[in-house]
Amino acid sequence: IKTIGVLTSGGDAPGMNAAIRAVVREALGKGLKVKGIKRGYAGLLQEEIVDMEVRSVSDTIQRGGTILQTARCKEFTTAEGQQKGAEICRKHGIDGVIVIGGDGSFRGAQKLAGLGINTIGLPGTIDLDIACTDYTIGFDTAVNTAMEAIDKVRDTSTSHERCSIIEVMGRGAGYIALWTGIANGAEDILLPERYDYDEQKLVNHIIENRKRGKQHHIIINAEGIGHSSSMAKRIEAATGIETRATILGHMQRGGSPTCKDRVYASIMGAYAVDLLCKGATNRVVAYRGGEFVDFDIDEALAMKKDISEYQFEVCKNLSI
Ligand code: ADP
Repeated sequence: IKTIGVLTSGGDAPGMNAAIRAVVREALGKGLKVKGIKRGYAGLLQEEIVDMEVRSVSDTIQRGGTILQTARCKEFTTAEGQQKGAEICRKHGIDGVIVIGGDGSFRGAQKLAGLGINTIGLPGTIDLDIACTDYTIGFDTAVNTAMEAIDKVRDTSTSHERCSIIEVMGRGAGYIALWTGIANGAEDILLPERYDYDEQKLVNHIIENRKRGKQHHIIINAEGIGHSSSMAKRIEAATGIETRATILGHMQRGGSPTCKDRVYASIMGAYAVDLLCKGATNRVVAYRGGEFVDFDIDEALAMKKDISEYQFEVCKNLSI
């Protein structure tokens, strides 16, 4: 391996810059060249490729977002697009690519690997929805941002003795909802993985809680369930308790990464470069059982994970 390309793809996540910085500096330190590929696979196909030097990543470890920009690219899901991408890599002398993104981005990396470009995936998503790993770059920052926001909504909810439905991100996964549910002491959490939504049960729970002296009722609703505003209207009508919906939205994707996201992203970035140097390809870096490990991308994409039933029960049991 002589030249490594690095790109970010799919949704952005805080900590991606720490990973890019680690890739660039670990590789340069080992005497390799590094090229930054802008806007994910879209930028690869447009040949938006820039040389990365030690100073190219100065002052980035503390910044949210991704300095390489990110995009979704339909053309790269086609065989022609992938062939073109591999040819552009070869034209620029890139013999290894590190892809920071989610499962979709790993599928792209898998295709490039099949076309002779060595690839390594790094799990970058705030949603934690990558089966092979207990940690994804950005989740820790996103849950901390959501937790702080929910604390603020809770203050006003208590003062006005309201019911508050707070919608958090996560796409089809309920990890942000589960974690904030526990961290914020929510009275109810609605998760896509445990979808047995029964509005009458929810209404009864709110009324019971009010009788038992609770001054607010916080419901964390996952993005995968959605419809928070209409839910709030129906709950207000059924309980007679003022109910408001707050959709936290994209604030959860931004901001300065937490210490954990900076440290884990840095280690994963360096680990990916070391893998390429050992001749590895079609691998994804993961954090599992307290250690940084790597898996074959095909195996990683075939894995399944679910939220912990025990943690879900704990969340419910502690909100009495
Ligand atoms: P994420 O990586 O966060 O899961 P997406 O699913 O949007 O985000 O994937 C990001 C990009 O990865 C897509 O826009 C596309 O360019 C590429 N990609 C996704 N699926 C495939 C696939 N099956 N084959 C090749 N490239 C893919």
